[in-house]
Parts: sequence; C-alpha cells; structure tokens
Amino acid sequence: MGGKGSLTVARIRGIPIRLHFTFLIILPYLAYILAKTSPSLARMAGVRPDALLLPPLALGALLGVGLFVCVLIHELAHVFVGLRGGAKVQGVTLMLVGGVSEVTEFPARPSFEAAMAVAGPLASLGLAALCLAGFHLAGAGVADLRFSLYYLSFMNFALAIFNLIPAFPMDGGRILRAVLAMLTNRVRATRIASWVGQGLAIVFLLAGLYSLNWVLILIGVLVVAGARAEFEMVKSGSVMEGLTVASAMLRFPPTVEAGDSLASVLARMERELKTTYFVLEHGALVGAVSAEDARRSASSPSFARAADVMRREVPTLSPEQDLASASRTLRTSGMTILPVTQAGALVGSVSFSTVAAAVRAREAARAVEPKAPREREAT
Ligand SMILES: [Zn+2]
Repeated sequence: MGGKGSLTVARIRGIPIRLHFTFLIILPYLAYILAKTSPSLARMAGVRPDALLLPPLALGALLGVGLFVCVLIHELAHVFVGLRGGAKVQGVTLMLVGGVSEVTEFPARPSFEAAMAVAGPLASLGLAALCLAGFHLAGAGVADLRFSLYYLSFMNFALAIFNLIPAFPMDGGRILRAVLAMLTNRVRATRIASWVGQGLAIVFLLAGLYSLNWVLILIGVLVVAGARAEFEMVKSGSVMEGLTVASAMLRFPPTVEAGDSLASVLARMERELKTTYFVLEHGALVGAVSAEDARRSASSPSFARAADVMRREVPTLSPEQDLASASRTLRTSGMTILPVTQAGALVGSVSFSTVAAAVRAREAARAVEPKAPREREAT
C-alpha cells in the first residue's frame, strides 16, 4: 500500500500523512448518511433535531472530517509508540475503511509490539471519554456542539471496541499474537492467532448470513483475508530467518550522475537492459530514476537531467539488516530495486529477483542438509 492513488497532505515528525482517493468518495457519503440519520441520532443525544443550527449536510461533512481526525489520532498513537520500540513506519494513509499505517518493520520485542497495538484502541477510548466529558460539560449549550460531541464519543468507542476484536487485521489480532509470542515463538504465535481469527471470521460470516447483516459479512471477509496475509508474511519471514540483506545483495549497482542528461540515461537503459538507476551527486545517493519516471517525463525539455526526473524518496537498506524486513520495505516502496548503503556510501542493490534467488538458494541448502534434530522430533 504505497503512495499510489494518494496525496501527501502533511508530515508529522517526518512521517507523510496521505489521503487516499477513496477517502474523497467516502466523505460526501458519510455526510449524506449523517444528514439522513441526524434526527434519530440527535434524539439519542438528547438534542431536539429542530434545535440544530447547521444544515444536516454541513453538520454531516464536519462530523465526517472530525471522525477522520480521530482515526488519524488512533493511527498516530500506534506510530509513535511503535517508533519508540524500534518500528519503521513509511506513512499513514487515510482511506475508505479508515486509517492504515504502513509499517515496514514491527518492533522485535513482543512487549513493544503489544504496546504498539494497544496504543490505538487506548487513544480511541481516551478520545471517547474526552468527547463524553465535553458533551456533559456543554450542558444545555449549542445543540450542534452537544450533538457532535455525543456522536464522536460514540464513534470513538465503537472504533476502539471494533479494533480490539482478536483477529488480523484488527489491532486485537496483533495484541493476541504479541501475547502468544511471549509464550512461544513468533511463527507459532502467528499461526495460533491466525486460527483464532479465522474461527471468529466463520462466526461473523454465519451470524451475518443468518441475520442478513452485511457489516458482519464484510468483517468476516476482512478477517479471513487479514489472517491469510499475516500468516503468509510471517511464513515467508521464517524462510528468510537468519538471512541478511548482504546475502541477497548485488555489488556494483547501476548508477548515473545527477547531471547526466535524460537522453543518455534512456540510452543506457536500452543498451544495458536495466530499468532503474541510482542517482549520485558528489558520490552521495540522492535518488533513483526508473524507466517509468523517464517515460512519465518524456515530454520534458531536451536539456532535462537525471536529477529533474528522479524519485527523491528512496528507502535505503543496510547490509546487516534482516532480509525479511528488507523485503517488506521493497514491497511497500513501489520500486523493483532498492539501494544498500553503508556509512552513507552506496555499496549494492537488492531487487525482487535477488531476494527470490537468496530464498531459493537457502531452501535448496536446507533440502540437502541432514534434517535438524528439532524437525525430526516434530514428526
Ligand atoms: Zn489500530
């Protein structure tokens, strides 16, 4: 879930906050739904519907924005606690279904992973309590304000509870996995958490079909997909266990100079059959230029240089980094090859094909190795 189809609207402590295009669709929809249901919601809040000053659609739009600010705070709570525990976060994207933090590396210690997962629902519960307190303090004040605080308190509470469901991709799934990982290893913890999640998914699906409740059905589908994705991720991680970036790194990565003309870069791509070049300026890595970047700027003036068309935000890897986390970074980067740097100098590159080759080599080596005693015990 990279930056495709989304717009960076802000940066908080260097982390890009993006709006996904689906967010622009859901906002008018939310405003419409809120406008339609505002009379009954107002009665629930103990506010007379005719006391509302704002037109229902305007109030709906405001509450939609308020809700997404709350979702953003929930995601940032995960991110800030995660960063303290050593997580790597590439960005937060607000989209159709809420917020998604693009975490390329979770904290290694289960206790930190649990803290990171719990931070979001705790933030939502805190917001719910704050809004509820505000609702009571507002007394018989402006109806719109009381109504808004009541609504946001309810929604934040619902968000916290929903996320505490112990199934991936909800936070509860991560909390469960982290707790299990303290008792056993991470792969087995994920397997058990994934079973629990899929069991719950079946309950949601059956209950949804029985009551014809499409929200329950949707949650069921989401949880099945989440459980599978999480397990695949950890399983492929376990094949890579012990492998580092150095084992999948090619030396002498293809480079061009920032001042090289676009025409010469294109000529080299054709001649050397490479689709991405790292861009150096005074020996330092400043970006990367891919065939797509070049094609997108095909209409650039003839004097365009590599630096004019290159992509500046390029994640870098280090040779000692574990390969599993590097491959996650690669997958979320939207690039096919990433630079490896050491003490600021470019020393190599890792691509999907070199990662696959390293994994295949590892599997082949394991196949000819005599079976480890631990594996024999298991059978
Ligand atoms: Zn969360």
